[in-house]
Amino acid sequence: MNNVIDLVWDSIDKGLNIGVVSHKNPDGDSLGSLIGLGLSLKKLSDNIIFVRPDIIPQAYDFLPGLINMQKIEDIKVNIDLLIVLDSSDEDRLGLNKSLIETSKKTINIDHHISNSNFADLNLVVSGSSSTGEIVCQVLTRGNFPIDEDIATCIYVAISTDTGRFTYESVSKNTLQIVASLYDYQIKAHEINKNLYQKRSLSTTKLFISAISNLDLYKDGKIAIARVTSDMYSKTGAKPDETEGIVEFLRDTEGVEVACLLKELENKEIKLSLRTKDYVDANKVCSFFGGGGHIRASGASSPYTMVETEKLLLEELNKYI
Ligand code: 5GP
Ligand code: MN
Repeated sequence: MNNVIDLVWDSIDKGLNIGVVSHKNPDGDSLGSLIGLGLSLKKLSDNIIFVRPDIIPQAYDFLPGLINMQKIEDIKVNIDLLIVLDSSDEDRLGLNKSLIETSKKTINIDHHISNSNFADLNLVVSGSSSTGEIVCQVLTRGNFPIDEDIATCIYVAISTDTGRFTYESVSKNTLQIVASLYDYQIKAHEINKNLYQKRSLSTTKLFISAISNLDLYKDGKIAIARVTSDMYSKTGAKPDETEGIVEFLRDTEGVEVACLLKELENKEIKLSLRTKDYVDANKVCSFFGGGGHIRASGASSPYTMVETEKLLLEELNKYI
């Protein structure tokens, strides 16, 4: 961690251009980590570039600092130091992947067990609850500034990546960091309402649609739900409105593996896996070229929905 802190401070002192970037189809951890770190560095330097991901789900509209996000095609300077957050490999950056090649130096801050250590400096803590937790440690240990907006971003990152502080990955350290965020006057109740109590009606309709076509296999140990393109037209929801579906399946008694198969607009199938006790979701998703964590992983499948499901069940047969 100290070499990361030293390189960031050195780059700030030299007035270098520092970019912060995260993965495509961003979630709360990637957005919170990117903006939280970016806002802190921005207090020290005018040369901080917040790289915009492909989409920003509407649910995260309330995040502070979104205004700083810049599309890759609008970035006119060369990035000297690129800090990649919450991304297990280069491909996760999607349309921003080329920045890894074009930036002079790279830092990789992440907590995915499947991380490929692709950067010049790799701060990969697979036991950590979230990238937000690691970012907060970097900020604190490196004496980087933290204010209410930054603390809000970190809170969002940790809360969303830990199922509201309930997953196995939550440690005393995680909760101490969260507690310390209250020193910056975060409005946790407001943040929680924004995160968890303003689901759009279209999201609810998509949720119902997916859940009502649920299939169970292996005595109910495997639960599979699908989101197909006709569901988007019927419900008015967009593909990024599937948050919560796969976790809901997992939380059913007896379910060990919950799977969501989602058809994207380009017909690609996005796979989301959650497991409860013994199946390694990262291993299963690596079969499809994806990865993540032991209890939560994902992949993009090049096969059709039917083929993906068949292959997935064959793969799961090895573990259940
Ligand atoms: P989700 O199912 O919520 O999209 O993702 C669960 C976890 O798996 C997240 O930590 C996410 O970063 C990771 N993940 C999701 N999709 C992919 C993918 O296509 N490739 C890799 N390597 N990881 C993924
Ligand atoms: Mn994460």
